[in-house]
Amino acid sequence: MARYTGPACKLCRREGEKLFLKGARCFSPKCAFERRSFAPGQHGKANAAGGAGRTDRASDYARQLRAKQKARRVYGILERQFRRYFSVALRRRGLTGLNLLQTLERRIDNVVYRMGFAESRAQARQLVNHGHFLVNGIRADIPSMLLKVGDVVTVAEPSRDSAFFKELPALAEKRTCAMWLDRDLKSVSGRVLRLPERAEIDGNLNEQLIVEYYSR
Ligand code: SF4
Repeated sequence: MARYTGPACKLCRREGEKLFLKGARCFSPKCAFERRSFAPGQHGKANAAGGAGRTDRASDYARQLRAKQKARRVYGILERQFRRYFSVALRRRGLTGLNLLQTLERRIDNVVYRMGFAESRAQARQLVNHGHFLVNGIRADIPSMLLKVGDVVTVAEPSRDSAFFKELPALAEKRTCAMWLDRDLKSVSGRVLRLPERAEIDGNLNEQLIVEYYSR
């Protein structure tokens, strides 16, 4: 599945907030948003001073669009696939917005990131893509694969001896693991215990506006 390959920091600047797309760099003074916290482009500074980027002047459509774009960018998904996730969420029972977020959280690249085995979703996606992880003992190299409750994620045998995976437990120890997941740092493995509740998903996402965007 295709992915966005442009500059990640531009996305944070466009959304007007830090989306933490680059791991450690996001917490350092090198963060582009810390240095240039205005929208990219020729009129970026003008927008920051009172243009379309300001929510008090933004139309309903603009707010809905920004909410949708932000969620897409946080999870690193292109429009067509995001729309597909929305139609799946719409068909499921319960709240469409929550269904959508839970579907996004169940992607294997997100699960690897939430377990603390990668510093960003982009890195998790690359690790998955390169075939370093197994799900229930079977190679899982498609980042969009959706995990179910009870699924077990482990590291593929040939990857265990690599320097990256040998150092990973020490690095992962400093990162938190989501409550709806269980992980074993020693063996670099984890399990999906249950679906995440709303409070356990990024609080900055507004799923209601996303539903409104696609219901226009
Ligand atoms: Fe966003 Fe991270 Fe780039 Fe800062 S360093 S602008 S938080 S992606």
